[in-house]
Amino acid sequence: MGKMTLNTVPCPECKGSIEGIVIEEDSITNAKRIPVLVPAKCSNGHNVILFVDRKFTVRDVETAGTVVDEDGSVNKAMKWMDGF
Ligand SMILES: [Zn+2]
Repeated sequence: MGKMTLNTVPCPECKGSIEGIVIEEDSITNAKRIPVLVPAKCSNGHNVILFVDRKFTVRDVETAGTVVDEDGSVNKAMKWMDGF
């Protein structure tokens, strides 16, 4: 077990890069719910939430302020899962 570095994704606020985000492998492999929500910051300091799937791939990014509604984020997760 170790750590994983997530892929670089653009910030939804400023399109700046969100890179070098390191998470514990356990936090994904032991997660009860996928995607796992990972708080991060873009290069300009915006707070964002990364939606990470079981392959440690960032599937979606939202500014932290927009994820206060938990139902909304769950619905969004269901939406991309339907695509598989
Ligand atoms: Zn930003």
